[in-house]
Formats: sequence, structure tokens, C-alpha cells
Amino acid sequence: MEPITRKPEWVPDSYSEGFASQVVMAQGMHDGSLVSHKATAQKISKPIRRQLLSIDDYVEGILSCKRAIIGRAITLIESNAHSHMETAQTLLRHIMPHTGKAIRIGVTGVPGVGKSTFIETFGSYLIEQGKRLAVLAIDPSSCISGGSILGDKTRMEKLSRNDKCFIRPSPSGGTLGGVARKTRESMLVCEAAGFDVIIVETVGVGQSEFTVRSMVDFFLLLMLAGAGDELQGIKRGIMELADAILINKADGDNKVKAEFARNEYERSLHYIKPISDHWTPGVFTCSAMENSGISDIWSVIESYWQKGLDSGYIIERRQAQTLNWMREMIDDHLKSLFYSHPTIENQFPKIEALVLSGNLPPSAAVKELIDLWHNHYFNHSE
Ligand code: GDP
Repeated sequence: MEPITRKPEWVPDSYSEGFASQVVMAQGMHDGSLVSHKATAQKISKPIRRQLLSIDDYVEGILSCKRAIIGRAITLIESNAHSHMETAQTLLRHIMPHTGKAIRIGVTGVPGVGKSTFIETFGSYLIEQGKRLAVLAIDPSSCISGGSILGDKTRMEKLSRNDKCFIRPSPSGGTLGGVARKTRESMLVCEAAGFDVIIVETVGVGQSEFTVRSMVDFFLLLMLAGAGDELQGIKRGIMELADAILINKADGDNKVKAEFARNEYERSLHYIKPISDHWTPGVFTCSAMENSGISDIWSVIESYWQKGLDSGYIIERRQAQTLNWMREMIDDHLKSLFYSHPTIENQFPKIEALVLSGNLPPSAAVKELIDLWHNHYFNHSE
């Protein structure tokens, strides 16, 4: 039986035949009143496309703190699609004048130190104080293995249900630099939305602490009592970056040990030159589980913030961070222009082989490649 086509009533007249459904004439039927099941099923299973938002929609939604729009703006920022990147940059330009007012706090520490329990308790305390809080995460494991240390869905359950709090897990995949860019820009979105405090959380396993330190006003290092520095993977370099060290789990039998560790760390901080003349980092204890020491650490941060604003240190630190960030992005961009250039892609293996066989010194290889890139790149772009 030959299928015939029929335009269903929901298709506007102006639409082409491509919109007509396929209808199979069944026995006893004389018109096309039965739309084929297959076509109907296809229509139903088609995902409903979300309405595209204009830049104005995004800006209006962010400034009036509409969570769904904030979420979509961050998804746009996280996208690697070229057109999304351009839209995201336009959006960021529009919201820039509304950013910069939040206190940016970095929280780090080894897995199990109690970061999520701390953020839950500390965040709830801040909300009780009338603050609005955004929590963003940088998960270095997502860059290395595609897995996630921070990704557990049950983390910060109470906070995630609070409408004064916005929690966004780490963008997945990509390089740490890429994830960091996305987090910085997401932070700007949250600031424009009026969140008073932004917490950027990361697992203390290496490079990511430096990354988080480079985007926050206050860097808080969570530690445990009784576990040696080596065990905690905490390098002296990380301690140098901290604006405060907070020994968590100071409860029950652990209380005395925590106090002992506090003294120890305080002593070792004496041998470290503070990064800034404006602030001397201190060591404190808390129990995220029993909610003790939480208001104290907030008082420390508030006092840091006030002093930093009065002395101009916060502005100075942010300006230095922004310029570093810009330079890092230039480095990344230049690298990608270099390595993705067809001439370099073509010549690189040959020159690499010459270096490996000992026929070309690495420095000469670098000069040759850079000259090659320079000549081809500029000749072609003129
Ligand atoms: P994260 O991996 O750093 O995010 O650590 P979690 O917040 O998931 O905590 C790891 C474990 O330590 C969990 O079993 C928590 O219940 C526990 N924990 C966290 N904070 C405290 C605390 O202040 N005291 C005690 N006794 N346990 C805690």
C-alpha cells in the first residue's frame, strides 16, 4: 500500500510539505485520518528545546538572581563551543559593572579533612547572619582522570536545599587552566547576582591550591590534628599561601590533640614570611560537626576583609590576580595558536625526531619552529 502524506491540523499553512506526517492507509480507511505510530512516537520523543535566551534575558535574570538563569549562564561559560564562548564573553562584559562586591573565600584540604561538612556548617552560619552564599568547586581529579573527588551528590545536602545558597559542582574535564577560567567567570556571574560570599572549594592534592589561591581574597587551609604534614600531602608551599589554617575535628578525644597541633602549626608559621605586610596568618581550631569555632573563623575573615579594604590590600591583591590571569590567558592562547598551526603540526614530528636522534640541539629546534610559525602565521594573516 502506497503511503500518502497529510498535513496534521497543528501544522501552520505556511509550513512546507516537510512538516506533513506519513500516513498509511489501513484496511477500511478512505482518508488519511490515521497518523502512523512511528511518526507520532518520533514527535513525542523529540526533546523539547529550551527557549534561547538573549543577552538581555541573561543579564536581567542574573541581576534579579533567578537561579535557573544563573545556572544557564554558568553552563554557557562552561561550554567549549566557539559560539557559546563568544556569547559568554559578551555576557560577562555586560555584568562586569555589577561584580566585585562579594568576599571570595578559598577552602582547601585533603579528602576527608571535612571540607564539605565545614562548608555546610559555615555556610548555614553565614545564612543565619543574613548572607547569601555561592559555592563553586574546582576538582583537579576531573582534569586528570575525568573522575571526581568532589563530585559526590550527597555533599552539602542541607545547604543545597536553602534558597539563599547556590551550589555549583566543578566543571568537568579539560585542563586545570580551563576549569579555573570557567570558575573565575562563574564567580563573576554569582557576584552580579548579588551573593555576598563566594566559596571556591578544592581538594588539596597539588596544583589546584595555587589556582584557587589566585582567585580568592582569603585562602583557608583545613587540616587535621595528629596526621603528619606528609600524610596530609600538605607541602610547606601551601602553608605559605594560607591566610588562615583551621584545624577541623576539634571535638571529643581529638580536642586536646587539635590544640596541640594548633600550637605546632603556629610555631612553624613563625618561620614563614607572610605573603603580605598587611596580614599575619593565624591557626585556629573548629569542629564542623559540632558547630564550634565556626563564628570565630568568620570573625577572623571579617576582620581581614575590613583591614584589607581600609589598607587597599584587597584591591591590590585583586588587581594583581586579574593581571596574572590575563597574562596566563595570553600564554594559553599563544600556545594554542602555535601548536594548532598547520605548519607546526606538519613540521613538529620531524624536528622532534631530529632532536631525539641528537642531530639538532633543543634550543636550535625551538628557534627553527618559532621562526617557521612566525613566518607562516604572519604571512597568512596579512
Ligand atoms: P571532605 O572530603 O574534605 O569534603 O570531608 P567530609 O566533609 O566529607 O568529611 C569526611 C568525614 O569526616 C565525614 O565522615 C564527616 O562526618 C567527618 N567530619 C567532618 N567534620 C568533622 C568534625 O568536625 N568532627 C568529626 N568528628 N568528624 C568530622
